[in-house]
Amino acid sequence: MRQEFWFVVGSQFLYGPEVLDTVASRAEEMAAELSAVLPFPLVYKVTAKTNAEITEVMKAANYDDRCLGVITWCHTFSPSKMWINGLELLEKPYCHLATQYNMEIPNEEIDMDFMNLNQAAHGDREHGFIAARLRKPRKVIAGYWRDEHVQQRLAAWMRTAYGVAFSRSLRVMRFGDNMREVAVTEGDKVEVQIRLGWQVNTWPVGKLVDVMNTVTDEEIDALMEEYRSSYDFATNDIETVRYQAREEIAIKRMMDEEGCSAFSNTFQDLYGMKQLPGLASQHLMAQGYGYGGEGDWKVSAMTAIMKRMGEDGNGASAFMEDYTYNLVAGAKYSLGAHMLEVCPSVAAGRPRIEVHPLGIGDREDPARLVFEGKEGDAIVVSLVDMGGRLRLICQDIHCVKPILPMPNLPVARVMWQAMPDLETGLECWITAGGAHHTVLSYDVSAEQMKDWAAIMGIEFVHITKDTTVESLEKELFLNDIAWKLR
Ligand code: MN
Repeated sequence: MRQEFWFVVGSQFLYGPEVLDTVASRAEEMAAELSAVLPFPLVYKVTAKTNAEITEVMKAANYDDRCLGVITWCHTFSPSKMWINGLELLEKPYCHLATQYNMEIPNEEIDMDFMNLNQAAHGDREHGFIAARLRKPRKVIAGYWRDEHVQQRLAAWMRTAYGVAFSRSLRVMRFGDNMREVAVTEGDKVEVQIRLGWQVNTWPVGKLVDVMNTVTDEEIDALMEEYRSSYDFATNDIETVRYQAREEIAIKRMMDEEGCSAFSNTFQDLYGMKQLPGLASQHLMAQGYGYGGEGDWKVSAMTAIMKRMGEDGNGASAFMEDYTYNLVAGAKYSLGAHMLEVCPSVAAGRPRIEVHPLGIGDREDPARLVFEGKEGDAIVVSLVDMGGRLRLICQDIHCVKPILPMPNLPVARVMWQAMPDLETGLECWITAGGAHHTVLSYDVSAEQMKDWAAIMGIEFVHITKDTTVESLEKELFLNDIAWKLR
């Protein structure tokens, strides 16, 4: 199914048919030109002049599965009382592009006819008022529509809206419950389905073992070839790697049969399995599946969503865990990893398959991918259940090449500087209640996560280079009151 966005342009009858024809042909031209550079087609739908036209197009947007969102713009003045009924009904993501057909004011050509035709400065303000009056969640992007920066922001918003549609139909497969006694990985699955659309359900580990036993040698051979093409083998223990392939094939088969795009498991429930899935989970994440360890289905779902929101629908976003710090003045870093399961989409080089003992879980030595994370600006994101509402916490970070080789560390690792600095950033994160599990992403921006949270109707907390503990405490205090009133 081709997915697309709809372009709805506001006007009115006041200016006569000639102006309306001009608006329509320009809107069509803009949609075609933008479609060529945006990640999804932008389809011009209508030059809206009446309440009935707007209501009709918004109703159609809601029920057309191809439509991921609606982008509006007012070429001329467009009285906004006629937008009320349609906007009230609209359930799809909504972006108001405040732009203008012409870039420059033409010195000789400009007269009152030109002014009436090109008065988006007027029309877009009227349009903005009614959305504000309706308290309608929407994205406002202002600037010349051919400007590269404007197009990049539109592209990012489109990918966010794609992440919204994906979230609303996401199914998560749980193997086993959450790790015993852990609080932050728990959550209200009913609330999550109401707010975010996720269908989170459980399947027995015994069933997974049954499916593993039906995997053939030929299937494992084929997956081993894939491993060889993507990774270096730093082990001679081929049988151990083949066991991971068997696990991967079985998990993937069960997820695909149930339409699931994310899964969680726990080392405390591996009944009948010889190894904790390591390489298996990592290679599934590389294919775009979400994953969360210790039964953390929230981070698993967020990983799958953020992968979809990234570049080409499978960006560099990984399940991550804050492990330990380097607290030396001038070199203060966080070291993130997991006991096995870090997605190779964030690797700086070609990952190696290694086999090492695993201290917990009481199973055989598992195969896993070992690598260093790449350098660059990134974010870490955590979704927590505050009881009655969900809070999405996002922190800006800068990833560095790990400052130590750490030759005896048998897992993939990423090292970063938290904003605004390690200690303040940590104090802010802990104050907000952020988890040790996160999604670390190099190509989904904090702005995208803010927009996603706004569309979903959940709280968003952003820790940036400018955040102080005091300002954050005040924000959280006011948020608590505001969210109780909603
Ligand atoms: Mn963990």
